[in-house]
Amino acid sequence: MKKYNFTAETAEKKKKRIKNIIAILENEYPNAHIVLNYRTPFELLVATVLSAQCTDERVNKVTEKLFKKYITIEDYLKVPQEELERDIFSTGFFKSKASKIRETARILLEQYNGKIPGTMEELTKLPGVGRKTANVLLANLFNVPGIVVDTHVIRLSNRLGFVDTDNPEKIEFALYEIVPKNKWITLTYVFIEHGRKICNARNPKCEQCAIQQYCKYYTEV
Ligand code: SF4
Repeated sequence: MKKYNFTAETAEKKKKRIKNIIAILENEYPNAHIVLNYRTPFELLVATVLSAQCTDERVNKVTEKLFKKYITIEDYLKVPQEELERDIFSTGFFKSKASKIRETARILLEQYNGKIPGTMEELTKLPGVGRKTANVLLANLFNVPGIVVDTHVIRLSNRLGFVDTDNPEKIEFALYEIVPKNKWITLTYVFIEHGRKICNARNPKCEQCAIQQYCKYYTEV
């Protein structure tokens, strides 16, 4: 893909540009929030682990049945692993996901009295929980600000010209430099919504895009 001159814009200009973008997108998507369905903190963890390399829609279909069968954390350990694998099969990578869910369930019961810990440090020690999942849990369970860098946030951050990398961690920290802390959670969900509805991976609908004037992909490439 042809690129614009990434280095030409100062941090101050980026801060102003992203502020305008967030304001417009907040207006476009006033109800932007997490799409994964869950009733308990552990269900959110399970849904987030299942969402790796899978759409949220597919995860919600799978968890609709899953969460009726597995009510408590212990339930995930009562069945043979193969049974859990079958129950989450259609989300892909089911062996690895089943193993991570069960191992995490075991650790939570043994070390945390069945509760989800509330710090990045503790969360990222759990199997299958990277910074992305940890930020989902911190934001939605503890209201701790953080930016969840999923595929949509990666794509938008690059197209809008705020980063020049696909590395989620680099993107997360680059965004922290230019987005006010009280907008970190908002940015996550308005970017995801915009990525789904307008700024699609294959065919971005630039002509319908409310933030086109602030987009480097649209104005400079
Ligand atoms: S102008 Fe196009 S590339 Fe830029 S954010 Fe909008 S849809 Fe995406």
